[in-house]
Order: sequence, then C-alpha cells, then structure tokens
Amino acid sequence: MTGFIKVKNLIKEFPIRGGFFNKQYEAVHAVNDISFEIAKGETLGLVGESGCGKSTAGRCILGLLPPTGGSVRIDDMEVTEIDPALKKSLKQRMQIIFQNPYSSLNPRMTIDTILKEPLLIHRNFSKSKQNDFIAKLLDMVGLDRSVLSRYPHEFSGGQRQRIGIARALVLQPEFIVADEPVSALDISIQAQILNLMQNLKKEFRLTYLFISHDLSVVRHFCDRVAVMYLGEIVETAPTEELFRSPKHPYTRALLSSVPLPEPERDLSKRIILKGDIPSPVNPPSGCKFHTRCPHVMDICSKTSPSKTQVNYEHFANCHLLT
Ligand code: SF4
Repeated sequence: MTGFIKVKNLIKEFPIRGGFFNKQYEAVHAVNDISFEIAKGETLGLVGESGCGKSTAGRCILGLLPPTGGSVRIDDMEVTEIDPALKKSLKQRMQIIFQNPYSSLNPRMTIDTILKEPLLIHRNFSKSKQNDFIAKLLDMVGLDRSVLSRYPHEFSGGQRQRIGIARALVLQPEFIVADEPVSALDISIQAQILNLMQNLKKEFRLTYLFISHDLSVVRHFCDRVAVMYLGEIVETAPTEELFRSPKHPYTRALLSSVPLPEPERDLSKRIILKGDIPSPVNPPSGCKFHTRCPHVMDICSKTSPSKTQVNYEHFANCHLLT
C-alpha cells in the first residue's frame, strides 16, 4: 500500500502547569506514538472510546494542533514543519467536517458568506464563477440556492451538516478528516449524510480519515479501521476482517458491545469491560489495556507489546499474539 497520508510516531502531549512560576509539572499524554498510512481514495476509520485521543490525532494531522513529536506527510509534503508560505496551499488540500454543524458555522454569517469566505482567501475566482461554483456545490449536497440568504439557525441538523460538508468541499480538497460527522444527527438523517459523503468521495476523488465511536457506522463507511486505546493504536485491519476476526482483547470487547438486530444472539457472550479508561496523565505501564483486560498476564504490566502482523494489512499489539 502506498501512503498518500503518512503518519509516523505522532505524539501529542498537553502540559499541565501550576505553581508560582507556572512550571509544567505533568502532561496529558493524549496521542502516544501512533503511526499509520492512508492510501489515495481510501477511507480509514479511527475508532475508540471517548477520550482515547482520536480527535486530537485528527487535529494534529491537519496541522490545527502542533504535535509534540513525529511526522505527518501528505503526498510527501511535511505538515508539521511546513513553511508559512506553503500553509495556504496545504489548507486547500486538507479540510475537516466537524461533529456539531451548529457550533462550526458562524451564526452571524449567511450561508452565502460562509461558503464564499474560503474562496476569497484562497482562490482568484471572478464573482460570476464563484456563484456558479457555489450553486453546483449546493446541488451536489442536496440543497437549494434559496439557502444562500439564510442563517445557520434556520436549518435542521441534517441540513446544517450538508452546509458544513459543502464548506469543507469549497476549496476542492484531496483529504478530509471527518470528526464524528453524524453522531449529532438523528438516525434517519445519518444514512443520508453517509451516502452523500460516499458519493462526494467518488465525485471529488477524496481520501477520508473517519473518526467515530460508532462501530456500525464505521463498518458501513470505512475500507480499513484503526482501533485506539488511551492514545495508542492497538489494532488495524481491513474493515470486514476486523469485524470477522478481531485479535486484540480491546477490539473484541468493543465489537461485542455493538447492538445487532439478531434476536438469537447470545448476550451472555458479550464482553463487559470493568472499570473506566485510566487517566492519560498517568497511564498504566506496559500494555495500557492491562488494568481492564480479561486475559492479562504477568508480562503485560511490565512490557509494551510490539506490533504483530496477523494477516496481510492486519496488525495488533498484544502479547497473546507473540
Ligand atoms: Fe491484554 Fe496483555 Fe494483550 Fe494487553 S498485552 S491486551 S493486557 S493480553
């Protein structure tokens, strides 16, 4: 697999400061040495419990947060050390769709201003070309031209997310980080937005990093999945293989909790994890999952498991596999 997006040893820590000199005395280890690649036109799902660091990773990849360490490349252009002069062209290539379409749209701006603003900054479109392009874009996301004179509060959640998607596409990016793009929407609207994103992927030849805690949505939408736990990636695999044959105990627990319309399913086989996700300020030693793992062994608290290849494109970090 040739990576279009290459993330290598990415680390993000947030310092905790205090005292008279406001010195750093601890740090939140939000993203802890993660590496993965996304091929051109691929959709990679990044899943895990709330607080596992998936959104922080997405923001570091886009350059919205400065990483503490590691490298992010788009088509061999380094994102983390980019020359300020090239930042504009980078922003044009990478965009984000936010979880909450209401708070991500400026309530004081009309939809017309919201959609045209990036064009004014990044492109030298004439006024008539701008209008034509926006009209075409609205058509693609299933909205009418009449929305242009209205304000974000006048729309339903689904319509607002369509506007958020249109805004992300205005600069015709190649890579989009979709951060929980449907989790704030009603279930009936979720399918519409996912289908829209799938169609736009073909139309614009997009590559997606799809961040979600909803495994049913990820199964429907992603080509490959990376599972995160406490700032680390513990398993990656093609979507169907991951759902058919998960190897990491955490992935198995996550998948066993997915509600399925199968009345004959034996619920006693569900894996209920005990305890809360530990604090990322003081994460456990060795395998970070050892405090909750039903298969924990002596070695687990002492040594971090290394990445083991299970199958083609299927990797997991667990001592049970070595
Ligand atoms: Fe569980 Fe040990 Fe595997 Fe970690 S390394 S997932 S604690 S068995």
